[in-house]
Amino acid sequence: MSILVVGSVAYDTVDTPSGSRKDSLGGSAMYFSLSSSYFTGVSLLAVVGDDFDQKHVRMLESHGVDVSGLERRSGKTFRWSGVYETEDLNTRSTLDTQLNVFAEFSPKLTDAQRRHDYLFLANIDPELQLDVLGQMESRPRLVALDSMNFWIEGKKNELNAVISKVDVLFLDEGEAKEFAGQANLVKAARHIMSVGPKAVVIKRGEHGVLLFNGDSIFAAPAFPLETVVDPTGAGDSFAGGFMGYLAATDDLTPDGYRRAAALGSVMGSFCVEDFSADRIGHLSHNDIESRFREFAEISSFIPLKEGETLPKGHY
Ligand code: AMP
Repeated sequence: MSILVVGSVAYDTVDTPSGSRKDSLGGSAMYFSLSSSYFTGVSLLAVVGDDFDQKHVRMLESHGVDVSGLERRSGKTFRWSGVYETEDLNTRSTLDTQLNVFAEFSPKLTDAQRRHDYLFLANIDPELQLDVLGQMESRPRLVALDSMNFWIEGKKNELNAVISKVDVLFLDEGEAKEFAGQANLVKAARHIMSVGPKAVVIKRGEHGVLLFNGDSIFAAPAFPLETVVDPTGAGDSFAGGFMGYLAATDDLTPDGYRRAAALGSVMGSFCVEDFSADRIGHLSHNDIESRFREFAEISSFIPLKEGETLPKGHY
């Protein structure tokens, strides 16, 4: 099944210890579309300004992304700039967010768009996320949402309203704590699930992800990398792998969710190896499959067999 995604397509300016990039292709929906395009069809709903380079549209098309919902308006493309100050790249500060053409974006979904079974509400204004969800012909089989502190702080009520209607919520660790008003992650996840979502994915950068799915918890590590160039887009690439797997297999069992989280981690790990879409946009299926196999190897161990116990000490 294919996925409909609404979110930002942006020009990002980022500064990391490995270097900086000005006005490079970014945006939550852009990273998500590229990442999920390796596994299933994806239709992109977003707006860009008249400064948006046509070569970026062609790049998305070359990945099979349906760009018929990518509107071009007069004005400037969404811009975001951020800086990663420390070597460990775990903390990022936003320097500037300019909504530009997104301030007036109000898409009218086509009949085909309204019929998608999988919907991803990528990081963007929660009012826009709510509007798109409300236009779906019937409740999609799976609706997932990502957001960030900009909206948690600026549009908390609207965000609460849309979160109460989704199945899966993706947030990073700091955002989950802020949204839930709770410093403990397990309690924060429980709080979020009480608002509506059946599953919560808490992204913890180089410490991996925690997937809370009903009563079960799954912890996936981050794929260990020697070089991380730019973490921007890792969360959206994670979501692209996660949703791409679920939509392609339509396996919504707990095991399906776990595999989806592992594939999400693999896709996030590719994204951070270079700036912008320079790595996530140039993968082969073989690259992805080999890393997925390696990921299983580094994260699995033999559980206790029936009747087997752990060695006991002398006390
Ligand atoms: P991630 O690193 O996965 O959180 O995603 C970063 C991407 O989100 C960047 O490419 C930005 O263009 C985009 N972004 C940053 N702030 C916002 C915002 N307030 N709304 C929508 N997209 C944003």
